[in-house]
Amino acid sequence: MFLLKSIPKIDKFVSNKNFDDLGQELILNISKNVIQELRENILNKKTLSFNEKDLIDEVINQYEELIKPSLQQVINATGVIVHTNLGRSLISKETFENVTEILSSYNNLEYDLNKGQRSQRYYHVSKIICKLLSCEDVLIVNNNASAVFLILNTFSKKKEVIVSRSELVEIGGSFRIPDVMKESGAKLVEVGTTNKTHLQDYKKAINKKTSMLMKVHKSNYSIEGFTSEVKFKELSTLAKDNDILDYYDMGSGHLIDLPYGLKNDEPSVLEYMKKNPSLLSFSGDKLLGSVQAGIIVGKKKYINKLKQNQLLRMLRVDKITLAILEENLRSILFGKIDDIPTLKMLFLKEETLISNAKVLQNKIKDICTCEIINTKTPIGGGTTPNRLIPSIALNIQIKNYKASKIEILLRKKNIIGRINSDKFLLDFRTININDIKFIAQSIKDIINE
Ligand SMILES: *Cc1c(COP(=O)(O)O)cnc(C)c1O
Repeated sequence: MFLLKSIPKIDKFVSNKNFDDLGQELILNISKNVIQELRENILNKKTLSFNEKDLIDEVINQYEELIKPSLQQVINATGVIVHTNLGRSLISKETFENVTEILSSYNNLEYDLNKGQRSQRYYHVSKIICKLLSCEDVLIVNNNASAVFLILNTFSKKKEVIVSRSELVEIGGSFRIPDVMKESGAKLVEVGTTNKTHLQDYKKAINKKTSMLMKVHKSNYSIEGFTSEVKFKELSTLAKDNDILDYYDMGSGHLIDLPYGLKNDEPSVLEYMKKNPSLLSFSGDKLLGSVQAGIIVGKKKYINKLKQNQLLRMLRVDKITLAILEENLRSILFGKIDDIPTLKMLFLKEETLISNAKVLQNKIKDICTCEIINTKTPIGGGTTPNRLIPSIALNIQIKNYKASKIEILLRKKNIIGRINSDKFLLDFRTININDIKFIAQSIKDIINE
């Protein structure tokens, strides 16, 4: 009973001078919880004694934990360029600088400066994309998942959509083609088998209720061996002959040919546009290297129908997205790919990777074992399934620590590496040269801790 009576009164407790410079509202809430917990612990005999100093420290600890920014900068040393867990594509500081003035002022987001009247927000990027891709029109939505949903809902509600069984993919998190289709109101008609689908399979499935032939990029898996799939070009032709839509969900669309012999496996959006499709859609923050967005390109008459769907109001993008997207597309138009970090990293030459790795090696070679090795890494983001590109890594050994221990210790310093057959690696494909000093210091700290 005595202990209960000695619990501090909340008003007096929060007036302690240790709290003076802190947010009073937050301190009051945390203090109430801490004191309530103390009371419960005394009642059920978990706490047999306490002192006020410990309570104050506890409140301050909880306060500091709460006000710490949750979204933090990390160093991606995994080598995976389009890493969805680590924020996918980076936006360069230059890009931000170039759009800052526009975004912190009023602007012509939906205003035609020539005519002095309302216009469409999509116009700013559509003129560049139409120039780059020679397509009729463009629509930008929140992400590619929204693009798929909007397209299916607009053209295929209560109608049938034919998709190859091998393309009914699940893409990280909660995006499953069959489920998205169901939610959109479209009826899925699967054709072919897991490993083989022929044009004949699509042909046989077409009937009065068919609205669309859809192709889906496999993104995170590939089928090897006895396989066959129908090219989008053939699907397009078949769709046109039957007066229905052809649509390709490309996943990660890119406008610049990929290096390392990936060009033929993964043609660019330009190549697909040559086939004159009804509609294509792709992500803004995968290999395009820009912000989160879903980019829909294709025929004007179909884009117009998408614009009339009420759903678009829910999926529409903000001026921040459009400004950055426009800036990045201008860089692509002018061939300035170094302004787009995703593309810059993708095209980094092996010599550059080696010389960057040497910079770190020279800083730490006296305090730990570190060897430069040739390695391979996926590009990530469901871009080129099961294909690896060459890279250079430093294999770091600290004391007699296991690779998994080094991984944890560096992760605590926001440096995310990877483990390859029991070796801890820092992959230079994704390490920014400006971060090398911080990495070296972190390794020194770990050794001295
Ligand atoms: C990544 C991906 C999506 C989802 O795109 P988000 O931009 O992440 O919404 C849809 N379809 C395919 C085939 C994908 O690879």
